[in-house]
Amino acid sequence: MISRENALNILNSTSSTEILENLLDLSKFDNTNNADNTKNTNKVITYSKNAFIPVCTWCRNICGYCTFREENYTLLTKEQMKETLRESDKYNCHEALFTFGENVDENPKIMEELNKMGYGNIVEYLYDIEDWCLNNTDLLPHTNCGILSYEDLKTLREVNASMGLMLENSSSRLCNTVAHKDSMGKLPKTRIEMIENAGKLKIPFTTGILIGIGETKEELVDSLFEINRINEKYGNIQEVIIQNFRAKKGIAMENYPEPTPLEVLKTIIISRMILKDISVQVPPNLNKETGQLLLLAGIDDWGGVSPVTKDFVNPEAPWPEIEELNKFSAELGYTLVERLPVYAKYINNDWLDERIYHKIQEIKRIRN
Ligand code: SF4
Repeated sequence: MISRENALNILNSTSSTEILENLLDLSKFDNTNNADNTKNTNKVITYSKNAFIPVCTWCRNICGYCTFREENYTLLTKEQMKETLRESDKYNCHEALFTFGENVDENPKIMEELNKMGYGNIVEYLYDIEDWCLNNTDLLPHTNCGILSYEDLKTLREVNASMGLMLENSSSRLCNTVAHKDSMGKLPKTRIEMIENAGKLKIPFTTGILIGIGETKEELVDSLFEINRINEKYGNIQEVIIQNFRAKKGIAMENYPEPTPLEVLKTIIISRMILKDISVQVPPNLNKETGQLLLLAGIDDWGGVSPVTKDFVNPEAPWPEIEELNKFSAELGYTLVERLPVYAKYINNDWLDERIYHKIQEIKRIRN
């Protein structure tokens, strides 16, 4: 692993020779291994064929870069979710990504709707649809819905193959900036606690950083070291998403600069050098023009790509077709391989609930 100082030197570097040398240096790092320790050496890049289910578009936070949150929210009915899941099952998707705003049941109107349907809170509602999903499709639930308590994580572990929460940044300073000043759930301490709780509960976990939201280079580097620290302690972080801020019309940060392709590239390089045994992922729909360069810099996963649903968090950026992604990867000699929402090294009884483990064996039998 590189030192904090070296990571900062790479981020600050403006010399093309130095940047190219850093790219070449990547081969010296033994933490370039990720899911099964062979992906990078075998030039394999993975993705997960998924269905994106935006359960509820309300959120207790108001982040300066968000286009997902709606005051006049939508709460999907179970029938709407079942329809998408059935359709995605026909396309052989194996990940059902259940996403929604944080603590949506703090909104009395949403709680009233849930009560009318016979549920005491959003976690009960979610559990019910995820249970249906496991019983009726070959999709494995992955939940990403903001902060959850230890008890809620424990409950949802029974019906999830993996779960996620973006750390975004480990600096509490950002809570006083336009990005997070109205977002109590973005307090890094709370997010770190949840990621650690997932580790204690042995939940394979996806996290990530958001770059270009006003963080300093030091804060960016420290966030990566923090994620690595958690993984060294609990071993639960399967992948880290490096997500670049996109300036969109109507958001509070509409006129803020997006990170340059070079900044994203240098962030990928240092991520590879800091994160040990963790996959590095960039969303292909947010990096269409530069994705191949990021592949050269060492990413080894494209994340979830859906043939059925759109990216509701970035609706302006459609997923590339899987065929296109295949071609895109093959042009650099990489083989595109589909993965499940839980990485291979976690598919055992230690990391998964018995029911999930058996479901995966069933899916593997069908796929073979
Ligand atoms: S927590 Fe997520 S959904 Fe909520 S406002 Fe922030 S970015 Fe949007």
